Amino acid sequence: MIVQKFGGTSVGNADRIKNLLNLIQTDKPNIVVLSAVSGTTNKLVEITENLYQQDKNAACQNMEALQKEYFQLVDELYDTENKKSEAIELVKAHFTYLKRFTERVFTILQEKAVLAQGELLSTALFQGLLEERSINSVLLPALDFMRIDKNLDPDEYYIKENLNRILKNNANTKLFVTQGYICRNAYGEIDNLKRGGSDYTASLIGQAIQAEEIQIWTDIDGLHNNDPRYVKNTQPVANLSFEEAAELAYYGAKILHPSSILPAKKADIPVRLKNSLNPNRPGTIIQNSTPIPGIKAIAAKDNITVVRIKSDRMLFAYGFLRKVFEVFEIYKTPIDMITTSEVAVSMSIDDTTHLNDIMIDLKKFGQVEITPNQVIIAMVGYIPHSEKGYASKVFDALLPVPIHMISYGASNHNISLIIDQNNKLEALNALHLKLYRNNEA
Ligand code: ASP
Ligand code: MG
Repeated sequence: MIVQKFGGTSVGNADRIKNLLNLIQTDKPNIVVLSAVSGTTNKLVEITENLYQQDKNAACQNMEALQKEYFQLVDELYDTENKKSEAIELVKAHFTYLKRFTERVFTILQEKAVLAQGELLSTALFQGLLEERSINSVLLPALDFMRIDKNLDPDEYYIKENLNRILKNNANTKLFVTQGYICRNAYGEIDNLKRGGSDYTASLIGQAIQAEEIQIWTDIDGLHNNDPRYVKNTQPVANLSFEEAAELAYYGAKILHPSSILPAKKADIPVRLKNSLNPNRPGTIIQNSTPIPGIKAIAAKDNITVVRIKSDRMLFAYGFLRKVFEVFEIYKTPIDMITTSEVAVSMSIDDTTHLNDIMIDLKKFGQVEITPNQVIIAMVGYIPHSEKGYASKVFDALLPVPIHMISYGASNHNISLIIDQNNKLEALNALHLKLYRNNEA
């Protein structure tokens, strides 16, 4: 069995949705996971903001506008009047449901229910198209099997048991359609896997059914060797290991949700990234493979804050770092990068929600210095300790750029630097030139 996940742009309009019929694999049993139509989740977020602010007028206006877009989509998607009117009724039912939220108190539970409508709509409309074309398929409600536990982690056992039971009950079906992103929480309430979470759904499903392959279809030819938004002539990377892909996804490659690598890695299932607008391109395959030394890709993570603590008490002391880290632990703030000297330690964070409290607590240990607006530049690939020359190439490229922090040697897969946000473009381009163009010449 395989899993094919199509993101928002792959279902972005009627033509794209129809084009899925050319992309879905029917030679093997297949679970197709869909995101909401691109833009819908953002609009639903806006509606939830209207509802929190009790701005009923704005909420209703936004719902009307979105409903109109869906009426138009339905009109373009189906050929038969029969299917059109059936789908119009379906769209109306979803919006009648949404409008009821304007009449009650609005809480986080309602918010999650509103956000779930995007994926519920896209999958129901696609299932309708399959029916119109007489393609046999079953719509699997993700809310019947996708679940997170009390720690908000996927409940792997529950997902596996329930999904496999449902599949067994549909033993004669080869094609299934289900919603990405949405799930239930430990109390059975509607919840979600956070923004961009449809990739995570696909990989959790892949793990649960021990799929042969998980395909993630987007609108770009796989993971590129640098950020195409800032650097010209970036190239897709053909092969990545799970470790490399995880680092890249975390450090800013927008194409893949960072958590989605882990389930595939655990179950050792290849993840193939493909472009729905250009399906003949090979894309990127992420799998266990013998690594070849080299820097495969460069990524940048924005909005980084560096926290530096200086203390004479650190000299010859033990247990100092534990005390510092404990402060971050108390405020549930992950540290990304760390460098130390004998009397100082610098750490980078991207979640600054509790920065003030963290500062107050850290000041008990020494002088604290905060630098906002930094960016992590990560060079990802296979860079084992036995290889030489990589650091020198990186520093050579960055000769004109002031460097705030350096991290090398923590894993075999990453050289990271922190620089000022203002120098990001220059750094990404200079590194691209040095690391890839020189090789081509
Ligand atoms: N529709 C959700 C979002 O826009 C989930 C996803 O597309 O992955 O975040
Ligand atoms: Mg996405």
